Formats: sequence, C-alpha cells, structure tokens
Amino acid sequence: MLSGVEKLGLQPFRRTAAIVDVERPLRPGTPMVAAADDTYYFRREGEQVLISPSETVPSGPEDARPRPGDVEELVVRLNSITSLGIRSVAKAWTGLRTEAADGVPVVGFDAEAPGFYWLAGQGGYGFQTSSAIAELAAAEILGSGTVGTAPGISPASRTPRELAAARWSIRR
Ligand SMILES: Cc1cc2nc3c(=O)[nH]c(=O)nc-3n(C[C@H](O)[C@H](O)[C@H](O)COP(=O)(O)OP(=O)(O)OC[C@H]3O[C@@H](n4cnc5c(N)ncnc54)[C@H](O)[C@@H]3O)c2cc1C
Repeated sequence: MLSGVEKLGLQPFRRTAAIVDVERPLRPGTPMVAAADDTYYFRREGEQVLISPSETVPSGPEDARPRPGDVEELVVRLNSITSLGIRSVAKAWTGLRTEAADGVPVVGFDAEAPGFYWLAGQGGYGFQTSSAIAELAAAEILGSGTVGTAPGISPASRTPRELAAARWSIRR
C-alpha cells in the first residue's frame, strides 16, 4: 500500500444485478422479494424489475463484469417460479462489495498511522449508510465532535491481527 499503513485484510466480493423488462410489471408498493436461502432477490424498478442472484463470491480488486450465464440462469429460474414473465435484460452490471472480516464498516483514524483516516468496507450497505457515515467521518476529520463515534466501527479498536482472527460473518 502506497500510504505505508498496515493492511486490514479487506476482501471484495462480487455481486451482480440486472434491470429486466417483464410482461407483468409489479404494482407500486410491492415489497422486495428475497429468497430465504439467499440465492436471489428482486424488486420493482418502475415498469421494470431489478433482479440479482445475490452472489457473494470473493474477488481480487478489478473492474468486475457479469459472468456469462449468471443473469440468464436467474431469468430462467425467476420465470419458472414467478409470474413476472421476464422478456429481456435491459442492462446488467457487477460491483464489488468490500468487507472487513467482521463485516463492520471501517471508519476512523488508523490505530498506528497518525493522520490516516479509513472510510472503507461498507459491504452491501454503502448506499444507505453513506450519508450518516460521511457525517461521522467529516466530524472526526474536522475535529468538530458533533457526531459521536459509533462503537465497533473505528479501526483503532480493530487491529489487523484482531481482524485476521475474526470469522467472515456477513454473507448477504
Ligand atoms: C449489485 C450491488 C447491489 C448493491 N445494493 C446495495 C443496496 O441496495 N444498498 C446499499 O446500501 N448498498 C448496496 N450495494 C453496496 C454499495 O454499492 C457499496 O457499499 C458502496 O458502493 C461502497 O462505496 P465505496 O465508495 O466505499 O466503494 P465503491 O463504490 O466500490 O467505489 C470505489 C471506487 O474506487 C475506484 N478504485 C478502486 N481501486 C482504485 C485504484 N487503485 N485507483 C483508483 N481508483 C480506484 C473504483 O473504480 C470505484 O470507483 C450494492 C453493491 C452491488 C455491487
């Protein structure tokens, strides 16, 4: 690492999603549907539907792209177990959801490198948590102290050795 700080062992995991055209669009207010065994989810996206195979596959750092067959297999499956009637895939993409071993976001000053601030490892929750975490980070970096530090998320209490000993606990 160019910064010289000790690595925390953050691990990226692949996750694919697609927007599909359907014969029977979901009504407004239809809740998101997620498989109990975590093998897919889908939710309304206007007249279209967002689908995902919910994969959590370890990856190196890369410009991730959908693997051939992943979305197509999910379309076949959803068409066999729902009445959506998926006709075509409008777009599909894959991203990396990066996590620390304990699954908790890494936010705060490094335990040993003065002035180095971590804001990483948000896993599958980065959109929804970004505004609150950014507020926390800004308050800590500026030293304004208007936001309390959330217990457990600071790297100062999670050294590389402690994280290496932690089990990979999040698989969503
Ligand atoms: C399919 C999918 C569905 C998701 N659904 C949700 C959801 O419903 N709700 C939710 O809250 N979160 C969701 N997430 C998670 C969310 O996308 C992440 O938590 C969030 O994007 C993390 O933000 P980030 O800025 O830390 O990292 P990223 O968004 O990954 O941004 C990192 C950036 O750094 C760049 N980069 C990497 N390495 C280098 C380098 N060496 N040099 C220069 N640039 C580099 C990358 O290109 C990228 O632009 C989903 C993720 C995926 C993949």
